[in-house]
Amino acid sequence: MSAENSEYDVVVIGAGPGGYPAAIRAAQRGAKVALVEKEKVGGTCLNWGCIPTKALLASAELIDKAKDAEAFGLKIEGVQPDWPAIMARKNKITETLTGGVKQLLKANGITLIQGTASITPDKNVSVEADGGEQLLNAGKIIIATGSDPAELPTFDFSEPSVMTSTDGLALETVPESLIIVGSGVIGCEFATVFSAMGTSITMLELMDRILPTEDSRVSKQMRSVLRKRGIDIRTKTTVEKVLEYGPDGIKVELSTGDTLEADKLLISIGRKLNSSGLGLEEAGVELDARGTIAVNEKMETCVDGIFAIGDVTGGILLAHTATAEGLVAAENATGGNRSIDEKIVPACIFTTPEIGSVGLNTDKAADQGIDVNISRFQFGGLGKALAMGEDMGFVQLVLDRESDRILGAQIMGPHASDLIHEIAIAMKLGATSADIAETIHAHPSLAEAILEAAEAAHGQAIHAAPAKKK
Ligand code: FAD
Repeated sequence: MSAENSEYDVVVIGAGPGGYPAAIRAAQRGAKVALVEKEKVGGTCLNWGCIPTKALLASAELIDKAKDAEAFGLKIEGVQPDWPAIMARKNKITETLTGGVKQLLKANGITLIQGTASITPDKNVSVEADGGEQLLNAGKIIIATGSDPAELPTFDFSEPSVMTSTDGLALETVPESLIIVGSGVIGCEFATVFSAMGTSITMLELMDRILPTEDSRVSKQMRSVLRKRGIDIRTKTTVEKVLEYGPDGIKVELSTGDTLEADKLLISIGRKLNSSGLGLEEAGVELDARGTIAVNEKMETCVDGIFAIGDVTGGILLAHTATAEGLVAAENATGGNRSIDEKIVPACIFTTPEIGSVGLNTDKAADQGIDVNISRFQFGGLGKALAMGEDMGFVQLVLDRESDRILGAQIMGPHASDLIHEIAIAMKLGATSADIAETIHAHPSLAEAILEAAEAAHGQAIHAAPAKKK
């Protein structure tokens, strides 16, 4: 690539679920847009995150179902995962989606540039690629560079036995044994995948419970689900040191003094934000010690004309928040005036069963001293859940005691990631549990569990025994 100058109204850096929708929205609004990506269009979400994990989880769920076939009156013998085929399916889904995004970019007239971008001191964008450097004259810049897996200094990541989530999604064979360090969303999703594949798993968590940021009831029930899958969960435990990197595995000493050996060790302790090497300090963009780019509710950084969105701005590291922020930034970069509203953000964990949550949970309400009424309904009391053979879990509503308004909800159970949106919309509209209770829900449906939880708030759930009088 020879050094050449190109003029764009908007240059977006990073083509993940924040950057590519931002580019499309800016183009829809008539801007001349360039989108720069150093690796793969679709970013973490489509290539190393949301979608590949969900593809593997779909295979894992089918294996579990097939093993349970007799309960449905079916005889299926010899259920065996075919890992190369499972990975090929995952790769095909990823390729289909990233190919689709490329077509959308083309159809919207967006110039996709492959290379590593940085911001020049005069607030334009320089792109380095194999062929040389290209300068993009940028009216507005949207930084959407996302995040990478965080690493721990205890481990040598060049050793094949040590994996990030990205490595875990590229494994050529199923490990016989796996240590998972960190029991957050990613740790629990990987545990669900590999336990279905027959891997023997030990999960280590520094805090006193798994999924430590979730509602304590959710975290307790997920612990029992994972234990039933044969996963050895050790809380208040971490790796003290690595004793040996062998040719086929790793041996570690734990903070408890125990030693553990496994074929692979997965680190799932969080994300490192991608803000270094972008020339941000020189351009005057404010960063904190963790590398988080500071933005206001319009997704503007402190430098006029430079916006930032998605994981690199910290806060809620989810694909849908990245997208929502991308659309706000794109509109503001093209003459609009929008603010992001992240008060109501559903967050989902795609374990079996799934977990969906939104707003306040019981622990946060207690921490904030908010007087809440908690109402629950168990999927075990629901006809549809029983018919599906998925009666584990519950719907829990967190209600303002005085006004009955819904402040939050946690759903653990079948299709929780879809069901949670009924509550999100109810919250957006300022609804009460009485509003939900008075809305007729179809029968038989999983959504009836939400209706029953809302009825339970008034002591009137039909399919739950009344609480015993004290
Ligand atoms: P990213 O998706 O990280 O994209 C940033 C892009 O910028 C990358 O393609 C990168 O190559 C590019 N880039 C970086 N620096 C430069 C540069 N200098 N020049 C050019 N390009 C650059 N979220 C959910 O909502 N649901 C899920 O189910 C879910 N599952 C996940 C599972 C896993 C295993 C992981 C790791 C994450 C998961 N996430 C999930 C989180 C989600 O993937 C991220 O929150 C989301 O991808 C962030 O989007 P982004 O656009 O901010 O950044």
